[in-house]
Amino acid sequence: MDIQTLVTNIYHEVKPLAAKGEVAKYIPALASISPNNMAISLHYIDGKHFSIGDYNTPFSIQSIVKVLSFTLAHKALGNDIWKRIGKEPSGNAFNSLVQLEHENGIPRNPFINAGAIVLSDIILSHYKNPEQELLNFAKKTANETSISYNEEVARSEKETGYRNSALAYFMKSCKNIINPVEDVLDLYFLTCSLEMSTYCLAKSFLYLSNHGIVPSTNEQILTISQAKRTNALMLTSGLYNESGEFAYRVGIPAKSGVGGGIVAIIPKQLSICVWSPPLNEFGNSYAGICALEKFTTETGVSVF
Ligand code: GLU
Repeated sequence: MDIQTLVTNIYHEVKPLAAKGEVAKYIPALASISPNNMAISLHYIDGKHFSIGDYNTPFSIQSIVKVLSFTLAHKALGNDIWKRIGKEPSGNAFNSLVQLEHENGIPRNPFINAGAIVLSDIILSHYKNPEQELLNFAKKTANETSISYNEEVARSEKETGYRNSALAYFMKSCKNIINPVEDVLDLYFLTCSLEMSTYCLAKSFLYLSNHGIVPSTNEQILTISQAKRTNALMLTSGLYNESGEFAYRVGIPAKSGVGGGIVAIIPKQLSICVWSPPLNEFGNSYAGICALEKFTTETGVSVF
């Protein structure tokens, strides 16, 4: 079966499963998204691509941005980043406060909220115009210009971000936040509001399947080693406290967000992004996981 037929079949098979999940409700902009949106985009490193469904509709990428923030912070600090953030799966909810206190304000990994708040702090310290830097970086990796923040989402995130504020202030008390907490949170909330379509998002993550190089421009974003390590972190911590289950069922590095997106890569081959807003109990796209599981099962490709 050719890949287009396979992905088309998967799209139609999993679309009804979205009814088993629930869209994120904590801010109006997410609560009002139609649960019927669904898209799958596939980009190969040789330039071939295939998409189906609402693949040109920008959606709130939310925690998926943590991979882009991590890339910028990792480039800026190198291995010193590991003095401020760990590399272990958390086994806890993405916004958990408990573990952070036990571990003296050092977040378990860059992909839980506490970790990404530290990433925002690092980006603030190292880049002159951090907001623009991250936006330009998303555009550069996707080699596309139609990517933007959603100011309304950023505002709502700020208005309801009590737990994120608690995490940030706690880390400040442990001296793991250098800049003023309000500035760090503003950047964190803004980055969560980034909007991209599945088409752009899958394209943007291709540098991670191509040893750190953007295939369409040949620009080296990360070293081979840094790209490998980023993928390892996605595999172990990319789907909140469902990362183990996802690695077991799907077997490829991925990152999810509460906007219902999941983007995944297969090294030296491709990246794939699925969007379906209704979430399971862990905050991951219900139909998105099913689609990716079918994809790796039916093509027989994974990192194992
Ligand atoms: N904006 C969300 C928060 O900080 C991120 C949620 C997510 O996608 O994990 O709570």
